[in-house]
Amino acid sequence: MMENQKPLLSINNLHVGFKMRQGFVNAVNGINLKLNAGQVLALVGESGSGKTVAARSILRIEAPGKITEGEIEYQSPNHGMLNLHQLKAAGLQIRSIRWKEIAMIFQEPMTSFGPMHTFGNQIAEALIIHENVSKSEAYDRTLESLQEVGMPRPAKVMKQYPHQISGGMRQRAMIAMALICNPQILVADEPTTALDVSTEAQILKLIRDRQETLNTTILYITHNLGVVFNIADQVAVMYLGEIIEQAPVSDLFISPKHPYTEALINAVPRVDTDYTNRKSKVIKGNIPDPYSHPKGCKFHPRCPKFMKDVCDTAKPDMIEIVANRFVACHLYSNTQENLTNEPGKY
Ligand code: SF4
Repeated sequence: MMENQKPLLSINNLHVGFKMRQGFVNAVNGINLKLNAGQVLALVGESGSGKTVAARSILRIEAPGKITEGEIEYQSPNHGMLNLHQLKAAGLQIRSIRWKEIAMIFQEPMTSFGPMHTFGNQIAEALIIHENVSKSEAYDRTLESLQEVGMPRPAKVMKQYPHQISGGMRQRAMIAMALICNPQILVADEPTTALDVSTEAQILKLIRDRQETLNTTILYITHNLGVVFNIADQVAVMYLGEIIEQAPVSDLFISPKHPYTEALINAVPRVDTDYTNRKSKVIKGNIPDPYSHPKGCKFHPRCPKFMKDVCDTAKPDMIEIVANRFVACHLYSNTQENLTNEPGKY
C-alpha cells in the first residue's frame, strides 16, 4: 500500500448522538479514521465505547442515533467520491451502496434474516436487487456462496428458515449474504461473539481468506483483543466515543502506549500463563455514566497512571508519537524523547 494512496473511506471528526429522555447523549465524539484499500482495520473497545454506532454510521443505519457533526467520505467505484454523511438514510444512493459496495456482518444474524423466508430466498434477493440477475442465476450463486463459506449441506440450508439451523450456521449464512455481491468494504461487527472457539477460528479464517484473495477492505469491530491479533493490520482503540490509540497491530501488542490499551492487552488470557494461583487482570471500575463523562481524560478515574491536576483537568490531544502511531494521553504530551519499545514502559 502506497503511503500517499487516497483512502477508500475517511471518517473525519464524526459525532453521533442519541436523543434520550434524560437529554442528548453523544455515543461517538469526534473520531477520525482512514480505511485504505485492502487493509484490515480493527476498531476495539469495551461495550458502550461507541464502536458499533460509528460502524453503523458508515452504512447510514445509525438511527435512532443522529450524525450531528463531521464527515464520512467514501470513494465509490460506481459513484465517485461521496459524502455518506449527507445522504438520506433511506435514499436510493445509499441503498445502492449497502450490500453491493459496503456490506456488514452483524453480531446477531437473526436481526438481519426475516423469520418467514428461507435463506435461499433472502440471500438471492440481494443479488436480484443489486445485480439484476435472473432468479436461477441468483440461486446458483447463492449456493456457491454458501459453499464458499463452508456451510454444511448448503442445498438443504437454502430451503431452511433461520430458526432451523445453529448460531454458527446462521453466522456463515450472514457472511455469505454479506459477500455475495463482492463488496469492496466489509464491516464485521463482533461476528464471532456468540460462537464457540472452533467456529470462531473458522469464521476468522474465512474473513481473512476473503481479504487475501479479493483484496477486500475490512473494518473489524470487536471487544476482544485476542481476535484482533489474528486478523488486523491496524488497530484503533476506542473509549467513551473517542479513539485513544491507533497503531499497526504488532506495535500495539509489543508496546501499547495508552494505559487503557495496556490494561486491555493484560486482560487477555494467555496460554503460556499459569492462572492457578493468580487473579486475572481486570480493568478497575466501570465505563462511566454516559450522561456525565469525566472531565479531562475520560479514562482518568480508572487509570493506574493518573496524574492529579493534569489528567482530571485537561483533555489530552491525539498526537503522532512516532510514524504511524497515535495516542491521546498526557504521558506523551511533551515526552516523546522518553519513549521506549518495551511493553508498558514510557
Ligand atoms: Fe491515564 Fe492521564 Fe493518560 Fe488519561 S491522560 S490515560 S489518566 S495518564
